[in-house]
Parts: sequence; structure tokens; C-alpha cells
Amino acid sequence: MTQNSELKTPIPYGRQHITEADIAAVVETLQSDFLTQGPKVAEFEQAFARYVGAKYAVAVSNGTAALHLCALALGVNEETRVITTPITFVASANCIRYCGGTVEFADIDPKTALLDVANVRAMLESKPKGYYHGLIPVDFAGAPVNLEDFRKLADEFGLWIIEDACHAPGGYFTDSKGNKQLCGNGAYADLAIFSFHPVKHIATGEGGMITTNDEKLYQELLKLRTHGITRDPALLEENHGGWYMEMQELGYNYRIPDMLCALGLSQLSRADEGLARRKQIALQYDEAFRNYEGIEVLGTDAAALSSDGETGHAYHLYVIKVQDRKGLYDFLREHNIFAQVHYIPAHTMPYYRNLGYKKGDFPEAELYYSQCLSLPMYPTLTSEEQEFVIAKVKEFVK
Ligand SMILES: *Cc1c(COP(=O)(O)O)cnc(C)c1O
Repeated sequence: MTQNSELKTPIPYGRQHITEADIAAVVETLQSDFLTQGPKVAEFEQAFARYVGAKYAVAVSNGTAALHLCALALGVNEETRVITTPITFVASANCIRYCGGTVEFADIDPKTALLDVANVRAMLESKPKGYYHGLIPVDFAGAPVNLEDFRKLADEFGLWIIEDACHAPGGYFTDSKGNKQLCGNGAYADLAIFSFHPVKHIATGEGGMITTNDEKLYQELLKLRTHGITRDPALLEENHGGWYMEMQELGYNYRIPDMLCALGLSQLSRADEGLARRKQIALQYDEAFRNYEGIEVLGTDAAALSSDGETGHAYHLYVIKVQDRKGLYDFLREHNIFAQVHYIPAHTMPYYRNLGYKKGDFPEAELYYSQCLSLPMYPTLTSEEQEFVIAKVKEFVK
């Protein structure tokens, strides 16, 4: 492909990669005894828990259901106040609203677009202890949050942490002892959640996962995922016989079918490959855009680099910042490159504005939003396609 030739098919910002092995895994499950509530669910959970280094995993119908169950398991109610970032998918905040709790935002660190721990501390210190109950930091774009820092705050102020790790399976930060801490490993957060939407690293169509090292929360999540029902003889209040089960609290049907878990298992077996390719693509973009006038590459927290120079960034997104973002977005679209904007700040959405937030509340998030653009980033993006993207971005910016 030459620099001036045009694309026949559009390049999206992200897309799934489905192989023959993936298809075979789904077909095999379709022909098995269980379409749902079968053996593939636990198999996927165990493999995923191993992948992120957590003790327990609970597979659910999507990432939003995962967030909702986390909020329920932690006892979020009308009295609960939780702090999260405005630069995230709205589901990170909505899970608290589902339970009637109050969402408060704290502004981002402009260098990384991650929730700024100093801003969170200032908010916590401005209120009596006990005023806030939880934190939901997000590994935005695949850049791992330094959860060791957030844990210190959480311990000091008596808070729980849900890590929204949808962008970061396989990502890690390096803690103060020099240890790699995988996103979702449960070492610092009480719970972590992932999504298997097709734009994410591991795709099952719809699907989600919760990981934790806390056995009590794990047992609670299992129950809440399926109507609040348990059949475990050890947990029953009465027992009338083999058919007996109890609905012990108000749960939901947030189960994921076995076909999707089979697909997830097959995808998970290639996760490292996909992640390595994402890092390669990021390196190519870095070479093209770092030190290029008019383009700023979204930075990475120092904790995402380990002492061997490896990066723990999981590169769900590759974000650049430019002055004329709308101009660049439209120009790329004319050339069949479908870049995307992540994210419109949550507090500026009509729903959150109706709850009292307004434009101007979080200036760093809003400045970031006015300049950011996510370029195509997915393992099957070819080098030729990437060169085309780079050439078109430079053509517009120069
Ligand atoms: C995708 C995503 C979600 C929601 O996941 P779904 O599976 O689409 O419900 C939540 N948070 C973040 C940061 C996401 O990227």
C-alpha cells in the first residue's frame, strides 16, 4: 500500500480476532449437554483467575453486571458515597447509582488521564472519616493504576476498592518493593472487574469477570449472580431433600452461557500473543509521534515500567492529544479510519448533570477530552494499515 492509496475496508479503533479454534470451541460446547450452568463456566473462571494472579473469579453476563454485583456484594446503598474518575465508560459510575448510592468524581492526572490520587486524598481529607465508603479507579487505556497508593488511602480512610480493569487484562504495575502486580490480582483492590465486549482484549460478544482474593465476597458474588439462590448444603437454613434450594436474598440472573465461556477460554489461550502485538503497535506509534510537533502522546505512569524496561501498559487504547481533535477525527474518517474518543467525561452527561454536576467541575478531564483521540489498536491491525494511519495523522497535523 502506498501512502496515497485508499483503504477498501474501514479500520476501526478496536476489533475482535476470532480464529478457527475459537469457532471449534463454541461448536463443541453447542453439541455438549450444557449451554449454560455447565462445566465451561468454572473452567473459564479458573483459567482467568490464574491469568491475572487472583484466587477467585466469577464469570458474569457483561462488565456492567460485574460492576453491579461488586457494588451489591460490598453493600452499597442510599448512604454510600463513592469516588471515581470522570474519564471512564459511564458503567464504572452507574453501578453505584443502581444501588442508590452517591457518585462523586475526582479530577484526573493530566499526564496519564488516570484518577489522581492527590485529588482523591484532598477530597477525603475535606470530610470527616466515614463520609466516603469506596473508590473505583480505572486502568484507563490499559495503563495500570498504582493500586498500592490507593490502598494506603483506602486503609487510612476505611474504604473498599473496586478496580475497573476492563482495559488491562495482562497489564501490571510495579510496587514499591519492585514486584510486578498484575491488574485484577486482588493484592490491593477488594474486587476487580473485566469485560469481554468485542473491542476488549478477550472477546466473547458479551461477557464479564470479577476477580478477588476474598473468599466471603466470592461466595456472595456466586449467590448474587443467580437470583440470590444457593444449593450449598453448608449454607442452607433448612434442608427438605435433594431438590431443595433457598433464595436467601434478592439477586439477579447475570449468568454467562457455556458457549461464551468456551470462546473465552480459547481467546484467553492467545491473550499473551495479542498483548505482545498491542505493545509492538504502541512502539510503532511511539516512534512516529513522540517528538512530533503538534501531537502529544498520552503518558504512562512510571509504575507501569519495571526495572527491566518492560512496560506493564496493556494498550487497550493508544491515545494522542491534538489541538484540532474534531478536524483530525473528521479527516481520518474521510479516509476510512474510524478513530474514537475515550471518553466524554461522565460528569458532563445529561444524567449526571441532572444530579448536580456541571461543565467546569473537572478542568483536567475536560481539557483532556477536548484533545484526545484513540487511534486503531488491535492485534490484527497490519503494519501496512498502521503506516497508513500514521501517514494520515501526520498529513493532517503538519
Ligand atoms: C467496557 C467497559 C465497561 C463495561 O463493560 P460491558 O461488558 O460493556 O458491560 C466498564 N468499564 C470500562 C472501563 C469499560 O471499558
